[in-house]
Amino acid sequence: MLDLVIRNARLQDRAEAVDVGLRGGRIAAVGRGLVCDAPALEAGGLLLTAGLVETHLHLDKTCILDRCRAAEGSVAEAVRETAGAKRGFTPEDVYARGRRTLEKCICGGTTRVRTQVELDPVIGMRGFEGVEALARDYAWAVEMEICVFPQEGLLNNPGTEELLLEGLKRGAKVLGAAPYTDSDPRGQIDRIFAIARAFDVDIDMHLDLGDDPSQMQAEYVCEVAERFGWQGRVAIGHATQLSMLAPGRLAEVGRKLAGAGVAVTILPSTDLYLMGRNATHAVPRGVVVAEPLRALGVCCSVATNNVLNPFTPYGDGSLVRMANLYANVAHVGRPGDIAACLGMVTGDAARLMRLSDYGVAVGNPADLVLFDAETPEGAVAEIARPLWGMKAGRMTFSAPRAMLHAPDSGGTH
Ligand SMILES: [Zn+2]
Repeated sequence: MLDLVIRNARLQDRAEAVDVGLRGGRIAAVGRGLVCDAPALEAGGLLLTAGLVETHLHLDKTCILDRCRAAEGSVAEAVRETAGAKRGFTPEDVYARGRRTLEKCICGGTTRVRTQVELDPVIGMRGFEGVEALARDYAWAVEMEICVFPQEGLLNNPGTEELLLEGLKRGAKVLGAAPYTDSDPRGQIDRIFAIARAFDVDIDMHLDLGDDPSQMQAEYVCEVAERFGWQGRVAIGHATQLSMLAPGRLAEVGRKLAGAGVAVTILPSTDLYLMGRNATHAVPRGVVVAEPLRALGVCCSVATNNVLNPFTPYGDGSLVRMANLYANVAHVGRPGDIAACLGMVTGDAARLMRLSDYGVAVGNPADLVLFDAETPEGAVAEIARPLWGMKAGRMTFSAPRAMLHAPDSGGTH
């Protein structure tokens, strides 16, 4: 007995439409012409995917443009301005701003989120508490995991490590880093791996955010990941310095990333906004291109990062829009490659987060979203709108197609 059957849906990896049967909040059957008398939801041949996976999102510092300056557009300004605004954060304030962005993510089809939360002696646990409350209150629509990290440095910022430990003890599932703001970047990387090992958690670092690859730490992270036996448990976000490498050198780094099981998260909106600021013309885009890395076996995701703050003064939480932005800036044009951009906010992103119960397959949670598109490449190319989404088989939002109201013509033309 099924609770519900979604009829005539196209999946990411199949050409023909199928029916998807749900029972007890899980996917119980996938096939053509399922025979049952359960209530049916007609998908009309449109694309049904598992809920989108957001691997990198800062909810604690979202929606703060009303209290920050974003004039230079540099990384240093963004860190400085956010540090100033952070002094006034309360858990309630973090909750109210985070909610505004999180609800947009949900309506964009996202059902899983890794959210990066800053800890340091100025903010203390206030950001953490606000995000923790959001995770609890929105669990009906989205499953969130917290990644605690030292945005303003670790070794140079006494008291920060104690807070990271407290965050991990209070349920953070992942440990982050920002070596580029530390007085000793490699020292921070070493320390983060040591703490991650002590708590048996995965690592998701902000890394190599800049235009100058001579400062690149990606290969060092690969070395340390191997030394700690943390292969497959490390992701690096931004990695914009990789975008400055010639193909041969990029392939060399790519092979090390693949060998050490270090995944890469591309944050197109932030990287486009912050990078290339020293150029007066022929501005570097600062967005690392995934296709050659993926060909070498590197797991790559695309994510949102920041929304409406000095790191990124735009954003709507839509991962399909982000996949489209990435495709556009990375010169992705072949249909298969465009479809793979949807993979970077679905299956690849799930693999980066090591989700073992992800995808439209029997036994997995019925976390699903229906797009107003027939194919994955169409969804990315047209920034298709999600028409509805569900978490554990329960509808969490719906957004019917816009309707035109043409005047009554009263005749034929
Ligand atoms: Zn980030």
